[in-house]
Amino acid sequence: MSNIIVQKFGGTSLGTEERIASVAKIVKEASQSANVIVVVSAMSGETNRLIKLAKSFGDDPSKREFDALISTGEKVSAALLAMALHQIDVKAKSYTASQISMKTTNSYSKARILEVDGKKIQDALDEGIVPIITGFQGITESGDVTTLGRGGSDTTAVAIAAQMKAERCDIYTDVDGIYTTDPRVVPEAKKLDTITMEEMLEMAGQGAKVIQIRAVEFANKYKVPVRVLSSFEPGDGTLISLEEKDMENGLVSGIAFQKDQMKYTLHGVSDTPGIAYAILGPLSDANIEVDVIVQNVSVNGKTDFTFTVSKEDEISTTTVIKKLKDSLNFDDLLIDSNIAKVSLVGVGMRSHAGIASKAFKALSENEVNILMISTSEIKITIVIEDSSVETAVKALHNSFELDK
Ligand code: ADP
Ligand code: ASP
Ligand code: MG
Repeated sequence: MSNIIVQKFGGTSLGTEERIASVAKIVKEASQSANVIVVVSAMSGETNRLIKLAKSFGDDPSKREFDALISTGEKVSAALLAMALHQIDVKAKSYTASQISMKTTNSYSKARILEVDGKKIQDALDEGIVPIITGFQGITESGDVTTLGRGGSDTTAVAIAAQMKAERCDIYTDVDGIYTTDPRVVPEAKKLDTITMEEMLEMAGQGAKVIQIRAVEFANKYKVPVRVLSSFEPGDGTLISLEEKDMENGLVSGIAFQKDQMKYTLHGVSDTPGIAYAILGPLSDANIEVDVIVQNVSVNGKTDFTFTVSKEDEISTTTVIKKLKDSLNFDDLLIDSNIAKVSLVGVGMRSHAGIASKAFKALSENEVNILMISTSEIKITIVIEDSSVETAVKALHNSFELDK
């Protein structure tokens, strides 16, 4: 048996002792015909609980200790799953990121995987042991614990699949595949049998949390076939295919959305060359990812500069911008923390006009107030109020007949 399959189980899949026992059965069955490597996330709710706990001693805890704390949930589920496997006579061992030398950059909470030592994992497989690896975490060159950003266990799994030259990486979750949009928001959403890598990169990049964007980037770079499927019910799930899409398929493939966004406006900033860099440079130096950016037409040499970031970066963004107040001499800083982003994604949009107007018609008929717009060849992104997300997503899904 030389074929390797990586199986990743998310939080809800491991949410209770009963769930862990049923995951153990899935692993046991797969291990009868392949060398299985398992990657686990923390039990559902655990990472959120740890994040809340971290705020007990101030709003801005040490980044090193924050990661040391929030990475612990995965250790619990890895060890418990190993025990559940032992109970049904499967040899298994849990491994932390440190034990398999999962090296990352040292940007805490957003670390990127640099390399994995496959030897420990291979040794376990050679001994007939199922290795169960903690997702979401890594270590720096000096051995400190880092985490990979929310949803990061997906990325651990795909990185290990790439390193071990696995035949496939199966992402087990609480839905039975990838849908045209989040099925919990739009019950009419349609399950896709396959989705192209390019489309999945856009969907995940725009916030479809069913799989973390970095995981899709790894899969694309190392050509790892990835499947998303349910750990609750049998089924083939959705394959993220490495093949190009034939252009006969639909124009729009799906709708992604992201809540927990913040909008910053520097009002009355002087419109001189280099102004965008003067604002965005320090944000990037602070490792903050800026998303949608709009600079208005200037009036009397002054303009408004607006951008969005994730709410996770609220404290660091506000600190950076307040420090710029004197050098940039803007009139006001307006911060809106009740916004969200909705994106219409489709490779087929490239060659078709009229998609934007159809989208804006649907939004206007449903009285969705648009705060910002950004478009590219294969997506249209709007920033709207948080409270309008469901209406907007449903309106777009309906208008483009994605349920058909
Ligand atoms: P896990 O804990 O298994 O990693 P997540 O909660 O991170 O699970 O991701 C699964 C969730 O992603 C689903 O429950 C669903 O609500 C959401 N989701 C968002 N967009 C999509 C989509 N296009 N297709 C399927 N699920 C989606
Ligand atoms: N447990 C981590 C989180 O909640 C990682 C993951 O679920 O993939 O973000
Ligand atoms: Mg997830």
